[in-house]
This record gives sequence, structure tokens and C-alpha cells, in this order.
Amino acid sequence: MLSYKHGFHAGNHADVLKHIVLFLLIEKLKQKDKPFSYIDTHSAAGIYDLTSDEANKTQEYQSGIVSLSESTIAEIPLIAPYLELVKSGLASQTYLGSPKLAQELLRSQDQLNLIELHNNEIRELKRNMRGDDRVSIHHRDGFEGLVAITPPKPARGLALIDPAYEVKDDYAQVVKAVASSVAKWPVGIFAIWYPILAAERDRSEWLTRKLAELPVKNLLISEMCVSEQETEFGMHGSGMAIINAPYQLDKQLEQILPSLTQTMAQDAAAYHKLEWLVQPS
Ligand code: SAM
Repeated sequence: MLSYKHGFHAGNHADVLKHIVLFLLIEKLKQKDKPFSYIDTHSAAGIYDLTSDEANKTQEYQSGIVSLSESTIAEIPLIAPYLELVKSGLASQTYLGSPKLAQELLRSQDQLNLIELHNNEIRELKRNMRGDDRVSIHHRDGFEGLVAITPPKPARGLALIDPAYEVKDDYAQVVKAVASSVAKWPVGIFAIWYPILAAERDRSEWLTRKLAELPVKNLLISEMCVSEQETEFGMHGSGMAIINAPYQLDKQLEQILPSLTQTMAQDAAAYHKLEWLVQPS
């Protein structure tokens, strides 16, 4: 039984990191006219109402996307277009989830494959994405769906893998699904989100180590932690593991991560990390 609902967390520091990396990857793919595919294995609803009870129960978006939109980070030209999109959402009290962000950024020649398992979320996703013939929506397990869909058509492209990790098995499922998909789609870019938790609960090192053991051309990790971690609950940080990271993505993230971390920091324990676990040859 799935109980995770992204509406409680939409726009928090982890979403901000994930969606900035997603934005940079999509912009890289857009540098060529050739069409590309976007796959979202765990899509959730697509767009979030920041006036909802869910969003306001936790108010995580306040220290996340609202802080970001009020900061001077928009002065970094690389992410100014992302901030503009975010601000137009905030003007109508909404936050764009990954499917909606991708829909806004993709061109007429590109394709979106969106997967979601939860009944309520898929209903909302279908409503939020309706009327766009670039979009295919799949109501199924995201791990199986990824393997089934790859290689997509067109074969250039990117898969965002963004589970809730509400079941421990999600970590192993990520590794298994990515291993099978990389074999079928060696040119695909895979962007895998993961939480960074207190030592006893943390599985981020296990996950990134397992991903680095796969036969991939390169693997870049980009992590941001915003505070000291509480032992029992909460999430102080998160990371994105990027397989087949495009040329100079590391340089772009080097420009962004320090200011992003400073903006999101909730205490002096905040830090960021950018590291090649598999160096590009
Ligand atoms: N990618 C979204 C975004 O950035 O806006 C957020 C995704 S949220 C972290 C994770 C989603 O995965 C939830 O909506 C949950 O219902 C869904 N989910 C959980 N298990 C799943 C599975 N096995 N396959 C597909 N979706 C699943």
C-alpha cells in the first residue's frame, strides 16, 4: 500500500536540487535540433497547489523554492530561465513538478513518457497533462516501466528516476532497473534522485557505490545537505546521480551549488558535494 504523497514536500530543498539538475540536462539536450525523449519513472501529480492543506501542513516549500526565488541566485545566468519558470508558477501559488517542468521546456519534436503507480496521483497527472500529444502516460510500476520503455523513440534522451524510497527495497530496485536499462539504452542519460539521511538510516553511499559498479561511461554525483540531520526522522539532504552526464555539466553545477547551498542552508552544518564516481574517459 503506497502512502507517500509528494504534495506534502513539493518545492522543498530536495525538489529544488532535483529540478535544477533536470533543467540543466534538458537544456543540454536542446542544444541540438534532433528530437529527444524524456522518461519520468515516478511522476507524481505534475503540478502542486501551494495553498493546499498538504503543502501548508509542512510548508517545506517556504525554505525551498520560496527562499530560492527571493535570493540573488537568479543572477547566475545559467539558471535565470529556470527561476523565471518557477516565479511564474509561484505567482499563481503553484509549484511545477518534474513532468510539468519538462513539458514546459521540451520542444514540439520531443516526447514525454510519464509513469506513475498511485491511483490518485495518476488521475491528477492525466488531468494536469491533458491535451498534449507529445505526452504518453503509463499507469504502472516505474522500475518495470523503465526497462520496458527503453530504448525509447527517439533514442536520444533522459530518464529521471525519482522514487519516494518509502520501501527499503526501492534502493535495490533502482540499481536493478538502471542496470537493465543501461544495457538496453547505453546512450541514455539517467538522473537518479536519492535522499541523504542520518547515518543509521542512510543508504545513499550504498546506492551510489552500486551505480558506480555498473558498466557506465561516466557517473557524476551532486549532493546538497541543508542542516544537521535528526537521527530519527526528516531528511537533511539529497543527491542526484547522473549517468552519461553531458559535457560540462560538472562545470555548470560547480557554478550553482555553492550559492544554492548557501541559499537553502538552515544551519552551519549545510554542505554540498560534486564528484565523479566514474570519470569520463
Ligand atoms: N518526480 C516527481 C517530481 O519531481 O515532481 C515527484 C515524484 S515523488 C518523489 C514519487 C512518486 O512515485 C509518488 O507520486 C508515488 O506515488 C510514486 N510511486 C511510488 N512507488 C512507485 C512505483 N513503484 N512506480 C511508479 N511510481 C511509484
